[in-house]
Amino acid sequence: MIDKELLSILACPACQSDLVQKGEQLVCQNADCALKYPVRNGIPVLLVDEASR
Ligand SMILES: [Zn+2]
Repeated sequence: MIDKELLSILACPACQSDLVQKGEQLVCQNADCALKYPVRNGIPVLLVDEASR
């Protein structure tokens, strides 16, 4: 699990919107962006190149 305080300061690198953890992914809350970032070994990978829609 990702620390809640860490999650609160993380933002989508594409649009700076908030991210919410869903299982093993961090999901951008911006409906127009909605990128999903992987979490590997508990570390969020906030790279647009690694994200999926
Ligand atoms: Zn976004």
